[in-house]
Amino acid sequence: MTKYIFVTGGVLSSLGKGITAASVGTLLKHSGMNVGMLKIDPYINVDPGTMSPLEHGEVFVTEDGAETDLDIGNYERFLDASFLKSANFTTGQVYSSVIERERAGGYLGQTIQVIPHIVGEIVHRIKLAGEGHDILVVELGGTVGDIEGLPFMEAIRQMKHDDEVEGTFFIHVTLIPYIKAAGELKSKPTQHSVQELRRIGITPQMIIARSENALPKTFKKKLAMSCDVSTDSVIEALDAATIYAIPVTFLSQNILKPIAKELELGELNPDMEEWDTLVKKIVQPKNKTVVGFVGKYLELKEAYKSLTESLIHCGAHLDTRVEINWVDAEEIEERGAEALLNDCDSVLVAGGFGSRGVEGKIQAIEYARVNQVPYLGICLGMQLTLVEYARNVLGLEGANSIEFDENTPHPMVYLIDNFLDQSGDSQLRTHQSPMGGTMRLGEYPCETKDGSLIQKAYNGAKIIHERHRHRYEANPAYRKQLENAGMVVTGESNGLIETVEIKGHPWFLGVQFHPEFTSRLQTPNASILAFVQASLNAE
Ligand code: GLN
Repeated sequence: MTKYIFVTGGVLSSLGKGITAASVGTLLKHSGMNVGMLKIDPYINVDPGTMSPLEHGEVFVTEDGAETDLDIGNYERFLDASFLKSANFTTGQVYSSVIERERAGGYLGQTIQVIPHIVGEIVHRIKLAGEGHDILVVELGGTVGDIEGLPFMEAIRQMKHDDEVEGTFFIHVTLIPYIKAAGELKSKPTQHSVQELRRIGITPQMIIARSENALPKTFKKKLAMSCDVSTDSVIEALDAATIYAIPVTFLSQNILKPIAKELELGELNPDMEEWDTLVKKIVQPKNKTVVGFVGKYLELKEAYKSLTESLIHCGAHLDTRVEINWVDAEEIEERGAEALLNDCDSVLVAGGFGSRGVEGKIQAIEYARVNQVPYLGICLGMQLTLVEYARNVLGLEGANSIEFDENTPHPMVYLIDNFLDQSGDSQLRTHQSPMGGTMRLGEYPCETKDGSLIQKAYNGAKIIHERHRHRYEANPAYRKQLENAGMVVTGESNGLIETVEIKGHPWFLGVQFHPEFTSRLQTPNASILAFVQASLNAE
């Protein structure tokens, strides 16, 4: 049977509940436990796939092709494990399945209600995610008091008394504001949010207090007393130099002791030595390299979360600070690539959708190609390398991706209407297909070519596995022409073009997949690691 740790948030959002959940999970995993993670999102969208990255941050893609909340990415990066579709669900999914069952007559004429039907479905899904694990850490999105959160609160409350549940532990993450004028830390918002939780029937057993200032002992005592927890269950979470330091700072406050006691886990001694060494290299690295990061969602860097994190992982392994020089693709269109990328050791063009900034990205690619600057193009950043090569090397005027010019005379990137999805089923995609759920999603194998950069990056592996999230594909009709002119296909998946390189360029790689989704602190992604190494060599 599985034990459950529930992480709720109070006072306000963006307190780092996801990192808290991931940190607790990491410590338990490093203590030898089999840990599962689950993020529950109270919004009505079925998944975040169609949400704007500017509003919601990155859409994270799991191995089995689910478009999930970016917190799943945090879990994978911290726990060094792959989580599946079942690691994330939304209100939209819960209601969809209940309504579907109702339409199919599955409730035998009952009146369908939030309690017990919606709540029952939530409990069912939580237990499903817990199956096979010693412990499931469940993060509940949103803040206590949100209307949307209520059915979930009710569900986790009920699980306290469930015969199929071996134990539960409730962690509440809150904010301790510091009022400058009074020179005081304030516990009142935390008290109120704990009261709100209790009103629902949940008494948190641990308070994780986010604060800019260290909490004096007396304050912790007061907080413990007013929130009805023991003093050693008040854990302080100060702003950290890197999120990866958080498990270690939690451990130094003996966070596992009250958890182990309540859940009867015995004495836990997590081995965090390797982790700690990597954290030290993030905080005080020996080397530095500057990556020119060309993108279009620069107002919200969360849109590129996995990618920026992967640069940190690679930096840690190479003892290098990877400084990101953010370059707005549209600004390149105005000022030219040279002016904006001149100071960078390498160029990275990230994935994206829609035509804004595309011409600027193409100019950035031309700059990297012509000036022999190490280049990594991801997804759209790979597709545009074909367009750039076609226009500027093959002389194919008007070459484009049909995503941006439906009538281009040279569709270097096109839509294949028929392809085999992960399970081997045939899928149909056209220009008119609805946006939600019509992409190549999830992990696919890629066969690498002998002697290629990509094969070398993956230690000589002939087959690699990476995750996808895109609608368009490189057009194989132009393959011969490109290869004759020096742009070679070095990775393929069932006849689809997955990676391209340029002969004679010191390091130029375009990948159709998103390597950033499989990068973890302890095992950085191989393509990105090789790119950062090339960037470091280029100085
Ligand atoms: N817009 C492109 C496509 O749909 C690339 C997507 C991406 O970069 N993730 O194929």
